[in-house]
Amino acid sequence: MVLKNQSEVVKEMFLRALAVAATLFMLSANAYSKVSLSEFVGTKELVNSFLVDDGKDSLLIDAQIDNENAKELVKVIEKSNTNLKYIFVTHSHPDHYMGLAYILDMYPQAQVLVANEDIKNSIIANTVFMQENGFLSVPEMHTDKFDYEAALEVMKGNKIYFPSGTALLVQDDYLSSETGFISTLYSPDLNALFASDLAYNKVFPWLGEWMGAPVGNQEITNWKFNLEIMERRWGELKPVVYAGHGEAGGFEIFADLIEYMEIFQFVVRTSGSFEEAYNKLELLFPEYSEAELFLNFSLKNHIPGK
Ligand SMILES: [Zn+2]
Repeated sequence: MVLKNQSEVVKEMFLRALAVAATLFMLSANAYSKVSLSEFVGTKELVNSFLVDDGKDSLLIDAQIDNENAKELVKVIEKSNTNLKYIFVTHSHPDHYMGLAYILDMYPQAQVLVANEDIKNSIIANTVFMQENGFLSVPEMHTDKFDYEAALEVMKGNKIYFPSGTALLVQDDYLSSETGFISTLYSPDLNALFASDLAYNKVFPWLGEWMGAPVGNQEITNWKFNLEIMERRWGELKPVVYAGHGEAGGFEIFADLIEYMEIFQFVVRTSGSFEEAYNKLELLFPEYSEAELFLNFSLKNHIPGK
């Protein structure tokens, strides 16, 4: 047995301590900078919500369609064990914000953000339209109960910062398409593009009419343009694309959607009736969901009176 001299032992202990300290430092740095994502798929309309967290704080993207789904979504937030700092609503369609009251009741400290004044005003207008026409299904979201003016904060810049320095980039320079005003988010940490309802993946896209604003042929052209802009902006980074409805994927989601919209227009032009068009599209896209709602209303909009 070779006995180490005292200075060798001291040196070895010192090196070991140094290694442990370095590992601990790396772990703690990781704990504050590791950004992760939880996905939630609603039971209605396959509408997605996403929770981005950095281990400490979190940001929820879209707030679901009703209290039942919001309740399930809260379980995802609880599981993340983080402070819900922000709720970002991408656009004014009710399936993306009707769970707000429920979630804010659980997390009153959360700041609700929208990208611009148009999105805020259009959320309020949508709610008023629904209550006037008797189909506001979440009483807590009535304008008498929920203070939209105070709750919805219009973003100043185009970045959402976590206290840790983690940031997400918001883009809202899109043409009127699936809806009048929409916003998307990009997370550099996750290399993730949250495309909201500019992306539907194997779910019939909404080409219907809502509040007197139809998604007509001009809006379809605009939608294709929006997708091209997004691909030019983010394409080289090859991010994961998170759709508003349907599963995540790559930019092939955009290509599929463009192809679908072109076939949809062709079928509309060449079909003699609503039923004929409906059956053809269901046959051509058997893997697509939500025909009863999205395809039905889209064809009612594009084949009026037939
Ligand atoms: Zn939408």
